[in-house]
Amino acid sequence: MKTIIEPFRIKSVEPIRMSTPAERAAWLAEAGWNLFRLPSERVVIDLLTDSGTGAMSSEQWAGVLRGDESYAGAPSFFRFARAVEDLTGFTNVLPTHQGRACERILCELLLRGRTTPSGRRPVVPNNAHFDTTRANVEHGGAEALDLLTDAGRTPGLVAPFKGDMDLARLEALLAARADDVPFVMITITCNTNGGQPVSLANLRAVRALCDRFGKPLILDACRFAENAWFVKQREPGQAGRAVRAIVREQFDLADGATISAKKDGLVNTGGILLLRDPELFRRASDLLILTEGYVTYGGLAGRDLEAMAVGLGEVTDDDYLRYRVRSVEFLGERLLAAGVEIVRPPGGHAVYIDAAKLCPHLPAERFPGQAVACALYEVGGVRSCEIGTVMRGEPAPMELVRLAIPRRTYTQSHVEYVVEVVTEVAARAATLPGYEIVEAPPALRHFSARFRPLNAT
Ligand SMILES: *Cc1c(COP(=O)(O)O)cnc(C)c1O
Repeated sequence: MKTIIEPFRIKSVEPIRMSTPAERAAWLAEAGWNLFRLPSERVVIDLLTDSGTGAMSSEQWAGVLRGDESYAGAPSFFRFARAVEDLTGFTNVLPTHQGRACERILCELLLRGRTTPSGRRPVVPNNAHFDTTRANVEHGGAEALDLLTDAGRTPGLVAPFKGDMDLARLEALLAARADDVPFVMITITCNTNGGQPVSLANLRAVRALCDRFGKPLILDACRFAENAWFVKQREPGQAGRAVRAIVREQFDLADGATISAKKDGLVNTGGILLLRDPELFRRASDLLILTEGYVTYGGLAGRDLEAMAVGLGEVTDDDYLRYRVRSVEFLGERLLAAGVEIVRPPGGHAVYIDAAKLCPHLPAERFPGQAVACALYEVGGVRSCEIGTVMRGEPAPMELVRLAIPRRTYTQSHVEYVVEVVTEVAARAATLPGYEIVEAPPALRHFSARFRPLNAT
């Protein structure tokens, strides 16, 4: 059969509250035209993020009931640690409440108080830092340097591995300033440029450069399974391998990893910090106890650890990954067919609409991404996320609107509805009003700013 179906049945349902465009227009005004300020009951289809918004399986919920809430040494922790070891080969495993807690600990260990022989700030290269990773690196006093290839920085270009690191630039950096680089990071899949995958060939080459210059390699491995699926589909010689073997090779190439389990851990909250070096692991454990919790729970409940242990097994299932990646691709294809420009090819977890192309009448300071995001909400109750000048805080290189797909949550008819809404918004794009900010905090303004459409009083 060529129809790819959702490989699950639905056992428990959550109602979607339907609403009318008139109701939504009023709610939007009440929220200061900022979608983060909307109560989620007022949203029809919520594509704000894929982080922690997925559905858990019946086996995960069974794990929740099994969770042992002992303070120290709970069997839930050992089941979790064994699942992580089976998947990644790492034996030094720390649970955290989410990905950024891993980043905070890693940066405190490897960056804080570090001086360089050149007297310049240390620099951490990455294919592209996710925003919390960048913030943690900078908070540690270092420069966060993005080294995507030219292809990776060209939204309309179709290429198989647009998450790859630019090897020539990494080599040049290491050759010129090896002593200033405490470690190298690489993000799989690369969230910042659209959920684009990294090839195994690229990972191996980055590893070889790290070996040559004696640098640890840390994976930001939030979407390790989606990345492995793309490798299996797209990389020469990989089609016959099991996803778990590819996942294992990804981790085998690294000295450590930070993971937000809210993505490919298939849970609503949780994180995992992995470190090969025993001394570093010991120091990370001390920091974990200081701010997160004891080493066998790390700020989570025993039931969360059980759900993660099960989720880490389910996420590498071929049927799940085929459906997951195909459903995102399907949304992308349908939008392209409707004449809507997107970042190509669609990534593993989201489709990014090019709002600058859709609204050429709106300059950056009139927030074209915000205009499209507000229209998607008003027309169809679809909540998306502006990734452009509003989020960046200054004119951004691209004005994007991200439609992030929660895992195992929406069906094909929901996706078809979203296509209809985007198509309708695209048809009236030329008439969408620009926006101005009426009130904003000094930092991270996109979460709480209030806006006003420029044709309104
Ligand atoms: C989500 C994410 C993080 C941070 O994880 P949180 O669980 O949100 O703290 C780090 N890196 C990437 C690539 C992510 O997508």
